[in-house]
Amino acid sequence: MYAYWGKILHIDLATRKTWSESKPEEWYKMYIGGVSMASRLCWENIEVGCDPLSPGNPICIAGGIFSGTPVPVGGKYGMVSKSPLTGFVGDSLSGSWLPISLKRSGWDGIVIHNASNDWVTVFVDDDKVEFRDASHLLGLGCGATEEAIREEMGDDQVRSASIGPAGEKLARIANVSNDGRKAGRCGQGAVWGSKKLKALSIRGTHGVVVADPEELMKLSFEIQQAAQGPHTEKYRVLGTSSNVLSMNRLGLLPTRNYQEGVFEDAELVCGEYLHEHNKAKTIACAQCPIGCEQVGHVKEGAYAGAMAHIEYESLYALGSNCGLNDMKAVIQAIANCNEGGLDTMSTGVTISWAFECYEKGVFTKEDFKCEKYPDGFEAEFGNGEAVVTLTEMMYNREGYMGNLLADGTRRASKQVDEERGTESYKWAMNIKGLELPGYDARALKTFSLGLATGVRGGCHNRSAAYDPDIKGEVDRFTIDDTRGELAKSTEEYAAVYDSLPLCKFIRRCFTGKADRAGAWPMIAKLINATTGWDFGYDDVDLIGERAHTIKKAFNIREGWTIEDDHLPWRWQHEKMKEGPSAGYLVTQEELDALKDMYYKAKGWTKKGLIPKKKLVALGMDDVAEEIGV
Ligand code: SF4
Repeated sequence: MYAYWGKILHIDLATRKTWSESKPEEWYKMYIGGVSMASRLCWENIEVGCDPLSPGNPICIAGGIFSGTPVPVGGKYGMVSKSPLTGFVGDSLSGSWLPISLKRSGWDGIVIHNASNDWVTVFVDDDKVEFRDASHLLGLGCGATEEAIREEMGDDQVRSASIGPAGEKLARIANVSNDGRKAGRCGQGAVWGSKKLKALSIRGTHGVVVADPEELMKLSFEIQQAAQGPHTEKYRVLGTSSNVLSMNRLGLLPTRNYQEGVFEDAELVCGEYLHEHNKAKTIACAQCPIGCEQVGHVKEGAYAGAMAHIEYESLYALGSNCGLNDMKAVIQAIANCNEGGLDTMSTGVTISWAFECYEKGVFTKEDFKCEKYPDGFEAEFGNGEAVVTLTEMMYNREGYMGNLLADGTRRASKQVDEERGTESYKWAMNIKGLELPGYDARALKTFSLGLATGVRGGCHNRSAAYDPDIKGEVDRFTIDDTRGELAKSTEEYAAVYDSLPLCKFIRRCFTGKADRAGAWPMIAKLINATTGWDFGYDDVDLIGERAHTIKKAFNIREGWTIEDDHLPWRWQHEKMKEGPSAGYLVTQEELDALKDMYYKAKGWTKKGLIPKKKLVALGMDDVAEEIGV
C-alpha cells in the first residue's frame, strides 16, 4: 500500500502496554483519514454508553492521506472521542507539524485507551513508545508545555500535542493544542485530562512513499501556484477575521449573547482594525502555501505583551458577543484561552451567557469573587477586564464562577436554574451542548437546519449550509423544499475535506470553483497519484457521506433521538430588533418541516434513524447490524 502503513498503534495508559493492529486496504479506501478514520476508530474501540470522562472513552487520532507529501494544506489530522460536552461524537481537526511526524512515524493512527494513575506524557518514537513522568509540566500552558518537551528532548523534530490547565482540571470546554493549532471543539482536552495525559509527542523518521511522485509533484505545484492568487487573497491578507464586518453588514454578527445581529462598534474589533493597529505577523501551518494565521499583539497598556492567533470565530465570541470593543482586551482573552487550553468559541459564548445572567439579575457581583477581585466585579457586556479575568478563572476553575463556566452553557444554565429557580436556559446558546458559531441563524434558514442536525452540535465547520443562504442562492429568510437536500449536500461536501483532510481554504484553487464539479476531479487525481487507487468523482463524493454516516451512527448508538436535533430557545422565540435580519426567528413548524426534508434527503427514517439497507449500500454492514433499522 502507498502512503499508508497499514497499521494503527494502540496504547494502554493503565497497563502501559502497546500493540499494533493491521487494517486492510479496503478499510482505508472507505475511511481515508482525518475525522472519518478517527470516528471509525472510536466506533470500534469505545465502551458503548461510557461516561466520556471514564477510561472506556478512547482518544482516537488519524492522520491524513496527504500528510508528509507535497500536497498543499494536507498536513492535518482528526481526533475523536465521545464528547464530554455533548455526550455524542466529539470530532476535532488540527494541523501543522504533528500530523507530518505521525505519518513519518510509521503509524496511520493512534488509539489511546484507559487512564494512567499518574500524570504522563507519551512519546512515540517511530515504532517505540515511552511513558514519561509529566508531574513537572502540570500547570503549564499549552505552548509552554510543548516548549519544555522540545527542550528536554533536544530535538526540533519531536512534535507534541498537549493540554493546558483547563484540560488538567477537566473543563468540558478544554481543547488540545499542537504547533499553535487547536483541536478546539467538543472538549477533547477534558478527555486527555481524565486519562492524566498531559502531552503526546511524536518523532517520525520514515519517508512517505507515494504511487506516482512525478504526477503528485506536478499536481501539487499547480495547486501551489493557484494558492498564491486571488482565490486565497482574503485569507492571506486579513484571514478569517475579515468576516466580522461582512456578518455585521448582513445583521448576522452575534452581539451580546446573540441578543442582536449588529454590533455598533464592530469596526473596533474586526480584521481591518487588527491589521492596522495590532498585527504582529502572518504565519502558516506546515505544508501550507496560503498562510491565513494573523497573529495579533498588544504593544501598550494593561495587556502589553499579549500575543495570540486571531480567527473570526475567536473575535466574534470574545468581542462582539461579549459586547467588547477593546481589541487589546480581546487579544489578551484569546491568548489566555490559547495558553490555558480553552476553546475560544465555547469560552466567549459561555461568558456572554454569564453577562446576560448578570444583566437580568440572576447573578450579582458577589458571584464573581476571585483572588484578583475578592469582592467580585461588574460582569457587564463590554467590560474587557471582566472577560479577561473570566478566561483565567475558567481555565483554573477558580471560584464559584470559574468552576461553573468551565463546563459550558448547557451545564451552567441547568445548575443555575436548579439552584436559583431561574430560566437562564433560554439564553444558553448551544446545540446538543456545543456553543454556537459566529452566525445568527434566525435569518439563515438553511443553516439553522444544518446546525440543528449537526452531529457534533452547533458547528459551522461541519455544516457549510450557511453558504447558499449568504451567497443568495436561496432566500435566507424563508424555507422551501430544497433545504433538506442543501443541508445534506453541504455537510457531506465539508466532510470530504475533513476526512482527507485538506484545509477548506484551498477549495477554490483547483479550478476556481469551490463546488464538487470544480474540486472532486482534482482531488481524485491527487488521491490516485498518492495511493495508486482508481478513485473517480463518485468515490470522492462517497468519502463525505460515509464520514458523516459513521458519526451519526455513533450518536445513535449513544442514545440520540430526534429531539436532540434542536435549536436554542432564543432562536425560536425572540426576534432580532435591528438591522437587515430584524424580525426573524425559526418557528417550531419551520424546524419540524426542515428536519423532515433533511431526513428524507439523507435516506433516513422520519425519526432520523438509518435504514439497514442504506448502511449496507455504503459498505457499512457491521454498522448496519448494530444500529440499522
Ligand atoms: S490556510 Fe490557514 S488554517 Fe489552512 S492550512 Fe494554511 S495556515 Fe493552516
